[in-house]
Amino acid sequence: MRIALYPGTFDPVTLGHIDIMRRAARLTDRLVIGVAINRDKGPMFDLEERVAMIEAEAAKLSAETGTEFVVHPFENLLIDCARDVGAQIIVRGLRAVADFEYEFQMVGMNRALDDEVETVFLMAEARYQAIASKLVKEIARLGGDITKFVSPAVAEALTGKLGR
Ligand code: ADP
Repeated sequence: MRIALYPGTFDPVTLGHIDIMRRAARLTDRLVIGVAINRDKGPMFDLEERVAMIEAEAAKLSAETGTEFVVHPFENLLIDCARDVGAQIIVRGLRAVADFEYEFQMVGMNRALDDEVETVFLMAEARYQAIASKLVKEIARLGGDITKFVSPAVAEALTGKLGR
């Protein structure tokens, strides 16, 4: 059974994340979405909210692809989380060249910690590549239209959060 772990903060989950999940689902039997608790990053959505938003999207993707989705909050080392969920693969999304340096280092360090787990990089469809949770939040804060970047449910949650 091929199990992959797709980790992130998902604050909130975007159409970019969903595109990567759909692609990763095609390659695996079970896709575990690792939701980093990340207290020090000061997320806009608390863990429960982030998990609920991902679960709603994961249910749709699971029905569409036949892959089992599991949403798994974690606070420990990524490589330990991969072991906990039995993943042989870590999936990361690559956007611009800017992501590369950090990801390159992460692979090096994670390999030193456990050489059995392979990191696989996927790229989203062109129209989703520029989407970043951070910018979506900024656009929402400034009253811009975010419907091109997130699902209707997440757009609603964002407007709700901002009291609009
Ligand atoms: P992190 O806090 O680890 O940066 P994110 O929630 O921002 O987590 O993203 C999780 C993963 O999804 C990362 O590998 C990130 O590069 C990837 N990702 C985010 N947005 C996109 C996108 N628009 N296209 C491709 N990959 C993306």
